Amino acid sequence: MDFSNILLLLIGAALLFLMMRRGGCCGGHSAGGHDLHRTDDNSNYAVDPVCGMRVSKKNAITRQINGKTYYFCSEECANSFRG
Ligand SMILES: [Zn+2]
Repeated sequence: MDFSNILLLLIGAALLFLMMRRGGCCGGHSAGGHDLHRTDDNSNYAVDPVCGMRVSKKNAITRQINGKTYYFCSEECANSFRG
């Protein structure tokens, strides 16, 4: 029985686990993990030009105005926007 090898494996696995947790998403932020706190993936988000809210492009209301796509948080904002 070689217990020192098992110990090394366990330490290695623990370090790997810690590294994956830290590097995984928010770069060390421990507060929550809500989407709104993330600033590193702006390509998935747009700013509503009417109210200034950050909206997910997936869920936003979109309008094509003069060949440009605008994203809104709601129909209300979309309707009150006049390019
Ligand atoms: Zn809005």
